[in-house]
Amino acid sequence: MKYISTRQQQETNIKTAILKGLADDGGLFMPEYIPQLDSEFFENLPNLTLQQIGFRVAKEFLGESISNGNLKEIIDEVLNFQIPVVKISENIYSLELFHGPTMAFKDVGARFMARMMSYFSEGKPMKVIAATSGDTGSAVASGFFGVPGIEVYILYPKGKVSPLQEKQLTTWGGNIKALEIDGTFDDCQALAKQILSDEELNQKFTLTSANSINIARLIPQSFYYFWAFAQLQKLGKPIVFSVPSGNFGNLTAGLFAKKMGLPVHHFVASTNENDVVPKFLETGNYEAKPSKQTISNAMDVGNPSNFERMQSFFNNDVSEFKKEIVSYSFSDEETKNAMQEVRKEFGYTLDPHGAVAYLGLQALQQAQSDKVGEDFVGVLLETAHPAKFVEVVEDVLQEEVIIPEKLEAFNKKEKQSLEFPADFELVKTYLMEEK
Ligand SMILES: *Cc1c(COP(=O)(O)O)cnc(C)c1O
Repeated sequence: MKYISTRQQQETNIKTAILKGLADDGGLFMPEYIPQLDSEFFENLPNLTLQQIGFRVAKEFLGESISNGNLKEIIDEVLNFQIPVVKISENIYSLELFHGPTMAFKDVGARFMARMMSYFSEGKPMKVIAATSGDTGSAVASGFFGVPGIEVYILYPKGKVSPLQEKQLTTWGGNIKALEIDGTFDDCQALAKQILSDEELNQKFTLTSANSINIARLIPQSFYYFWAFAQLQKLGKPIVFSVPSGNFGNLTAGLFAKKMGLPVHHFVASTNENDVVPKFLETGNYEAKPSKQTISNAMDVGNPSNFERMQSFFNNDVSEFKKEIVSYSFSDEETKNAMQEVRKEFGYTLDPHGAVAYLGLQALQQAQSDKVGEDFVGVLLETAHPAKFVEVVEDVLQEEVIIPEKLEAFNKKEKQSLEFPADFELVKTYLMEEK
């Protein structure tokens, strides 16, 4: 299988696509075609374990670049936690993606990417650059922590991540360095892009990106769509996934799963007030904007990096987008109300991101007569444990949130970060002095 840049100027294999992250022409790698899974796989799907699904799906994308034995080992290591499908109400289920080591869904993608990179780099030294709005950085840090030869630089926006997120970014030490940038997440993302495309830095180091632009993050994120579908198929209703979206990596992975043959009825792209994609679907015009700060801060993205991938997926045709995806944007007020409603009516605690996804399902249910035409089962992707956003959740629900031991451990450690203004030259000077 070849991997081709969305800007068409580079074509390579999976190993290079993963090690490079971003293509030389500034585009994002996409598989040449989306592989199809056979009918036997789908007939057998309800009997497969999450790991078996992961192996089959990953194999399609990786082909002969890795042996079955090595791939199996990596998949089993990556997916060493549960991804339960929990019923919230009659037709609404929560796909709990937060049972990994940092308690956010990004663990799935980051753990897979870290292991694939370390497998393909064969022990050669490498620098991994990751911009984060909160959760990516910690998942990436956790995935790479202690991997020999790999140094990780995490760029995060000063004062714009939660106190616990900050602890999860800055307390690793060892091969993980946290760069605290005086700016927004978009500034961090822009800096990461500049670093990765800088000639001098590239001459001195082997650089790569750990953002959702890396294809190795997307591949494993498609596994759990199959997994959730397998649990809910027996209900005999159309299945809709609502994906709380920021950079749209999670949603793009869902599109991959559908194209591989999974009969998903619709996707709901649910966003907070950073609404460039819902606006695009409404008007046909894509207009990147500065990001706005919201209570679902991991989705505060004004120029989603995977938009370019979705455009290439749909051949730049907005009418093709609209066949698969409906999209809604919600305010913080609406998000808080949804958290309260779900807690009160169903006894389930949503984090602010999951609450945005819940609202997306509700909005589609209200519009369902024209969009889906019948009763559907809605699956919201619950992307973070509520304790990751304890300040917001406690304030909204007026009740105490128990912090799981896994998270409490971070709180007890000392923050270590290096502060920078959002200035590429200063960050570059620092990196040039690194070993
Ligand atoms: C990153 C993140 C999202 C958004 O995912 P994308 O793939 O960037 O769209 C949603 N919720 C949480 C908790 C996240 O960390």
